[in-house]
Amino acid sequence: MATADPSPADVLIIGGGASGMVAAISAARLGRRAILVEKSSSLGRKLLASGGQRCNLSNTLGTDQFMERVGRDGRFMGPALEELGGPKLREFFHGIGVQTVVLDGFRVWPETRKSSTVLAGLVGELERLEVPIHTDCEVQSTTFEDELFHVTHPGGVFRSKELIVATGGLALPKSGASGGGYAFAESFGHKVTARHPAGVPVVTKEDWTARLTAHTIGKAHLAVAMKKHAKVARIGDLIFTKKGLRGPVVLDISRDLSPLLERYGEVPVHLNLCRGQSQEDWQAHFREWKTAPPKPLTDWLETQLPREVAEVLCELSGVTPSTLVQKVPGEAKDTLIRTLVKTPLTITGHTGYDGAFVTRGGARLKDVRPETLESKLQPGLYLCGEVLDLDGPCGGFNLQWAFASGYLAGTGQSTHQPAR
Ligand SMILES: Cc1cc2nc3c(=O)[nH]c(=O)nc-3n(C[C@H](O)[C@H](O)[C@H](O)COP(=O)(O)OP(=O)(O)OC[C@H]3O[C@@H](n4cnc5c(N)ncnc54)[C@H](O)[C@@H]3O)c2cc1C
Repeated sequence: MATADPSPADVLIIGGGASGMVAAISAARLGRRAILVEKSSSLGRKLLASGGQRCNLSNTLGTDQFMERVGRDGRFMGPALEELGGPKLREFFHGIGVQTVVLDGFRVWPETRKSSTVLAGLVGELERLEVPIHTDCEVQSTTFEDELFHVTHPGGVFRSKELIVATGGLALPKSGASGGGYAFAESFGHKVTARHPAGVPVVTKEDWTARLTAHTIGKAHLAVAMKKHAKVARIGDLIFTKKGLRGPVVLDISRDLSPLLERYGEVPVHLNLCRGQSQEDWQAHFREWKTAPPKPLTDWLETQLPREVAEVLCELSGVTPSTLVQKVPGEAKDTLIRTLVKTPLTITGHTGYDGAFVTRGGARLKDVRPETLESKLQPGLYLCGEVLDLDGPCGGFNLQWAFASGYLAGTGQSTHQPAR
């Protein structure tokens, strides 16, 4: 158990996850006396779980494209990415003995494809820099008195000249995520926006998805079927589950679905399971099939999508799948084509923070300077990583942000004080 430290540290970092560890490293490399405090018994639990324990730690996008893909508020990331964006992050990891690879031209992984390698590299560097690490030490409150931050934990009080809140979000509670950091930010006057699970599988009202769990649909189109939110749409791999949908396209769109679910209770969506084929494409297929030797409908549909999926879509359209294509009445064919182009589903929920990989919402960006990540309300206070109201899609966006923002926060370039 940690005890009170008589001499104040230069900087105390709350949270030993991806962003907190890198913040401690960047501070210590500048010769600053840093202390890292983590409530769990070990560092980087979420990092270990990331990318199916393989850790997709970044991607190959340039800064502008990266921020564009993040979407809403992505530009806030600019200065942090300048400091430790993709290529620099890979150099940083190579420098601590973690080689990285790109196998698909996009995602960056540790060469070992093990998140434990990434964690070992970070912990090794913290040890080399002799950063005091206090695990099993849950911070309870934070105050600023007599020009110092006072950080209270069950074993006493730490004091520091600067404070970095790197407490992450709410996803994967068993990794230590509890949202305590939001209260620390609030205690200094920061506003915290509504939080929702993101990167999360969704639950549907319809139960036919349970019949298709064996299938992964590549380049599926998934769009919200509400006039006001028609722009909420994504393309990517989709997997059916017993209770709904998962897969990259679902994880990505869930960032936008979660707030809509909270607002409306349920959200109608349209799927296109045939790489976005249009009404005209299907009309052309049917014209061609009708002039070919007679075959059941599903035999033809199987050329475009898995047979079981085709059968379900036929049933949804009221068409018997075994009907010879020439015998399908015109009206039934039109209904089927409509279903193929826009398969209706109703999203009624998600699997919650246990199944989510990131939190949407957090400490309001307006209160933080992007160029330093210092609070605008409390000099010497910094926020980094997922505790901020920023989240990205699948593909290394969130870890890249955690590392880069931690690195920037750790340099402590306060604009409230003379430059170091
Ligand atoms: C299953 C899963 C897979 C993922 N895979 C990927 C992936 O492959 N690529 C990617 O880019 N992103 C991935 N993510 C997202 C990514 O892991 C997170 O966005 C990132 O780890 C956030 O880093 P962080 O440092 O902000 O927070 P965290 O890593 O959550 O660290 C915060 C730390 O603060 C500690 N803490 C909280 N409160 C206190 C307190 N009061 N006192 C002391 N300590 C405290 C917590 O215990 C925790 O260790 C994944 C997430 C999950 C859940």
